[in-house]
Amino acid sequence: MNVLIINFPGEGHINPTLGIVKALINRGDSVHYVTTEEFNERIEGLGANTYLHPNHLKGRTPQNTSIHEFLQVHLRLSFDILTIVRELADSISFDYVYHDTFGAGLLVKDYLNIPSISSSSSFVIPRERFLEIIQSSTSSLNPSPDVEKENEALTERIEHCFDVKIKNPFQFLVNTANLNIVYTSREFQPGVEHINDSYAFIGPSITKRMQTHDFPLEELKGQKVLYISMGTILPGGEPFFQTCVEAFRDFKGKVVLSVGTDTNISKLLPFPENFIVRKYVPQLEVLQHTDVFITHGGMNSTSEALYYEVPLVVIPQTNDQPMVANRLEELQAGYRIDPHEVSIKKLQEAVQLILSTPSYHENAKMISKSFKESGGEKKALKAIDEYLAMI
Ligand code: UDP
Repeated sequence: MNVLIINFPGEGHINPTLGIVKALINRGDSVHYVTTEEFNERIEGLGANTYLHPNHLKGRTPQNTSIHEFLQVHLRLSFDILTIVRELADSISFDYVYHDTFGAGLLVKDYLNIPSISSSSSFVIPRERFLEIIQSSTSSLNPSPDVEKENEALTERIEHCFDVKIKNPFQFLVNTANLNIVYTSREFQPGVEHINDSYAFIGPSITKRMQTHDFPLEELKGQKVLYISMGTILPGGEPFFQTCVEAFRDFKGKVVLSVGTDTNISKLLPFPENFIVRKYVPQLEVLQHTDVFITHGGMNSTSEALYYEVPLVVIPQTNDQPMVANRLEELQAGYRIDPHEVSIKKLQEAVQLILSTPSYHENAKMISKSFKESGGEKKALKAIDEYLAMI
């Protein structure tokens, strides 16, 4: 089989697909993954063919991007992706397209007129709720008339060049299909009773990443470890990380701080001796040594932590993070702090509470079990094969 994979250039969207890429390749399928330079090493490392386009998302954050500008990012990405797909289609006959719920997936499906299967990197979120989330997580600044004009021109250009129709601008945000693969368990999904059978819950895809790193993992062995990361997208973290440094300078164990590629580490110096600070850490490896994780509640970070039975302190900022934080609280596997409540004392108390209340760890363990029993890539491939055989 020739599988075409279309994704959105975000860590949280790419990482969950790696397990499926590996499983497809292991059974002899050819995987053709359209992506950006940042993710090339880890995808190519699995044996997939990769095709790269510019990352129009770079420098964009929920705070500095209005919904119309976000739409423009999608339009630009879609144009570039369709251009690559058009060229590939001259020599490769694709059997189906596996695409993220964000982005160009449905346009590619329409252009090639082949079956599509979606990849959902978050909870299944009802459409109306989803639009609310997007509106509240993009900057409320009004778009300049230029942005709207440019969006109209880009829309026309895509429709004209590829003979496809953009049915409504929100299609870039909710690319669903008749089969949708979801990387969580039914037990962790809120409101699962309202979700139909087109969604296959396979549990988080935890795949060793083909990335090199020089992180001193051996320093974590036999130590109590507090890991802190606010994901890869949120900007302006310096004040928050500074508060963490003050809160945990006397922590009895190691504190791993991942500050993100845009944070100026020199502004945070000097660090106490028990801190290991990096712009990016090998998170899957670090979590295997972690006792408590302070996180923004990104779906991937949360799933990865729970998979390794790590309870969380969650400080949700935007997007689906408040929903994730609520679910963690409901299941008592995490303790929620709202951003305006963050203080040295509050962080210390939350970490202390988690470390001294064994039920947080027990509940994380139960969710981990549900993840491991969800079937993983094997279940995804079975669902894909059954779906393709049926149509
Ligand atoms: N990540 C990592 N090292 C870091 C920070 C993040 O490997 O230092 C990975 C993490 O394992 C996860 C992804 O980046 O797979 C972040 O996704 P998430 O949905 O948690 O947050 P986002 O960055 O999309 O807000």
